Amino acid sequence: MDSKHRMTGIEAPPGPARRPPVFVGHDVYRRAAYGGNHPLAIPRVETAVDLCRDLGWVDPDAWVESPVADAETLGRFHDPAYVEALRRADECGEVTPETQRRYNLGTLENPVFPGVFRRASTSVGGSIAAAEQALAGRIAYHPAGGTHHGRPDRASGFCYFNDPVFAILTALDAGVGRLVHADLDAHHGDGVQDAFAADPRVYTISIHERERWPHTGVPDDTGGGQSCNLSVAPGFADADLELLMAEVVLPLVRRAAPDLIVVTCGADGLAGDPLSRMALTNRALWAAVAALTAAAPGSVVLGGGGYNPWTVARCWAGLWGVLNGFALPDRLPPASVRRLERLDCDLVDEEDRDPRWLTTLADEPQDGPATPETAAMARRALDMPRRGRWSAGARRAAA
Ligand SMILES: [Zn+2]
Repeated sequence: MDSKHRMTGIEAPPGPARRPPVFVGHDVYRRAAYGGNHPLAIPRVETAVDLCRDLGWVDPDAWVESPVADAETLGRFHDPAYVEALRRADECGEVTPETQRRYNLGTLENPVFPGVFRRASTSVGGSIAAAEQALAGRIAYHPAGGTHHGRPDRASGFCYFNDPVFAILTALDAGVGRLVHADLDAHHGDGVQDAFAADPRVYTISIHERERWPHTGVPDDTGGGQSCNLSVAPGFADADLELLMAEVVLPLVRRAAPDLIVVTCGADGLAGDPLSRMALTNRALWAAVAALTAAAPGSVVLGGGGYNPWTVARCWAGLWGVLNGFALPDRLPPASVRRLERLDCDLVDEEDRDPRWLTTLADEPQDGPATPETAAMARRALDMPRRGRWSAGARRAAA
């Protein structure tokens, strides 16, 4: 691949006098959740936070305790009857067949576990707080957010509420006229795209693996001219992401000149994740997020999927370091190594566990060019129709 497409890796976002990033978190994520052998019954956010603390990366001034969204706030996007159904299900510890059918709750996909309502409400409160920080010109990092499949009236894809929607609504309420949601999770950001399909202020870009649940976000799906969907092949690797970022995503974002960017950085596109067949390193995700946050005065950076506890925790801890411009260690401190050694995961076979997941933060750099298929996808994506304020000359901007 052409060297001009290669991002410089893991540099902090440039820009003079940017206010330091904030980390939005809460101890509610330390509670066991989902239960049984659910793919999300692994410690993700808390492990990332602990790795950051081991490295001395969490200044008290940078920490924002996540508020908990109340029912009235949740009702801004979610059907109040659904909000109440989830609250009652949590309280009772069970759901009626009617509730299960109607709201997709109490299923294998979206189980009702103790504290589910508070946990989901906290992720919404956190994304609202993150948006408020971003409106003040900061990068606000909220890795517990990113529940991009949540629907107004039902749970979907392990997501009960849709916290990215609330980050976006908070920004729109404050008068933001141009906002981009960039979704790097391995699954299509269907809930967010659909939530703003009729709102010309919001443009959504999603890079996700094709032929994977929820099977939306095919390349022809332009969301009426307001979305760009890049559904990529299994094996999608760093050079492919770099090419799509350089040739499609960043030109679109720069042309849009958004007042605020919301990034959903699911970690399930990383090599070793059991629920995708993408093959990225954490370096590629970090570089993509750093470039996106550099393209707007304020950014909200959320988490999302990610089902390999080692790759998720390293990715999300390292992302905080990159957003801050901290030097990344070659080797993790002993406390972190012990933390990672204690993790387990039914979905990742022992023989598939890379020993470097226990001792390092950054993945080994990847070699190799982007595939011809990715290059063709980039060319096609620039020819897709766009609507209104998003219509003008992405191709010119790329030139
Ligand atoms: Zn995902």
